[in-house]
Amino acid sequence: MEKFDEYQVIKERLKGAIEYLDQTRPGLIDFLAAPKKSIVVNFPVQMDDGSVRVFQGYRVVHNRANGPGKGGIRYHPQLSSQEVASLAALMTWKCALINVPFGGAKGGVCCDTKSLSQNELRRITRRFISELGDDIGPHTDVPAPDLYTNERTMAWIYDTYDIMHPGRNNRPVVTGKPIDLGGSEGRRAATAQGCLYAVQRFLQRIAIPGLAALEDSRIAIQGYGNVGANAARLFHQSGAVIVAISDSQGGIFCKTGLNLDEVDKHKRQQGTVVGLPETMSITNNDLLQLDCDIVIPAATSNQIHADNAAAVRAKLVVEAGNAPVTPEANAILTRKGIYVLPDILVNAGGVTASYFEWVQNIENEQWTLAEINQKLKNRMNHAVDAVVAKWQMLQEKVDAAGEKAKSDNDDPATNTIVDLHTSALVVALERLLITIEERGIWP
Ligand code: NAD
Repeated sequence: MEKFDEYQVIKERLKGAIEYLDQTRPGLIDFLAAPKKSIVVNFPVQMDDGSVRVFQGYRVVHNRANGPGKGGIRYHPQLSSQEVASLAALMTWKCALINVPFGGAKGGVCCDTKSLSQNELRRITRRFISELGDDIGPHTDVPAPDLYTNERTMAWIYDTYDIMHPGRNNRPVVTGKPIDLGGSEGRRAATAQGCLYAVQRFLQRIAIPGLAALEDSRIAIQGYGNVGANAARLFHQSGAVIVAISDSQGGIFCKTGLNLDEVDKHKRQQGTVVGLPETMSITNNDLLQLDCDIVIPAATSNQIHADNAAAVRAKLVVEAGNAPVTPEANAILTRKGIYVLPDILVNAGGVTASYFEWVQNIENEQWTLAEINQKLKNRMNHAVDAVVAKWQMLQEKVDAAGEKAKSDNDDPATNTIVDLHTSALVVALERLLITIEERGIWP
């Protein structure tokens, strides 16, 4: 089977946005298209049974125009350097869009956490971080949690780096740490919390027929980890009915709404949501095509693609995970009148709270949850407003060009619908280009 090239998706997204940028030096776009630095490390780890296995790890810094690299560390058996590079580019755009002083980075190790013991995971993490050496640091590149890594992984990263760099405040080297090690209130649920704020703001700004607010809306969520499970709880608390959820083993559906306490208990006991009594088992693909108001893909990339996008029936797709909708699928959904809230906007709550943690670590401060959520809400609202304003402005421009072409008897422009993905990226790129021009090209 042909390997899906994740970085191609980045290039396509970039290409879609560039046509809306005013007078940009082409070389600057080339600079934003390619990762600044890519590291691949192969390292041995002694397993619990005494054998030795070699693991491959990656760290990519995509861009540092706005500040230190920032991005999660992912553990996944199918992880590739292309995927890490594409996720690093998303981080550059996301940080620019949400306006935090970071560049974009990402990393990870090719491994299946489900088949590894805690001791093995600890040795993999410590060895990986020691291999990266001074390529990460509080003011150069700051990791965070991502798929199949968590607070415990971040604690090992901090501890390893701190042992290698004694005698200074190393807490800002990594975010998403446990509270006792300088983690921030609200970081654990921040991605889902930010996602909720973004959706609420979007629904206030844009009138979607039959979806005026979250109350009584019917939501399906793919993925039941940090982002998906917290999103389920928070959207439910805001009045939504969670009709379906899933994990890597499959999904469950209940027309009248799932009891999330029962889901949590079942997941804890069985390791999966599948099989919860009084629910119907569905596949991950069924979930995406359910007759509901909102679909929230909160797991892996490339889930809604050219082959299943036409069957999506929700009014709104919320990319809580990174790159779950391919560019082709985004175009299909947009043509069908389905709004796609882009990943670089809706899941930016995680990096925003990471930024708050980083600032608290540098200042040796601890903010309250109420302060953090208020600051998070302000930033998410500003970002949604910026994207909606850009979207409306670009659409007016495209409509005016179409009208002019019609009156001039030219061919009307083929691209007549502007989507939210493109609009969000245009906002991010415009900010990045200003920073790069103001800094100047060194030397
Ligand atoms: P996690 O490891 O906590 O949970 C992942 C969930 O996805 C699990 O329930 C797993 O079973 C499920 N899953 C894995 N493969 C799947 C598949 N093929 N089909 C359906 N479900 C599958 O990860 P997370 O931190 O919740 O991250 C989820 C997504 O959100 C990722 O795309 C990540 O990059 C993105 N994200 C995470 C954060 C964060 O703060 N954790 C921030 C921004 C974006």
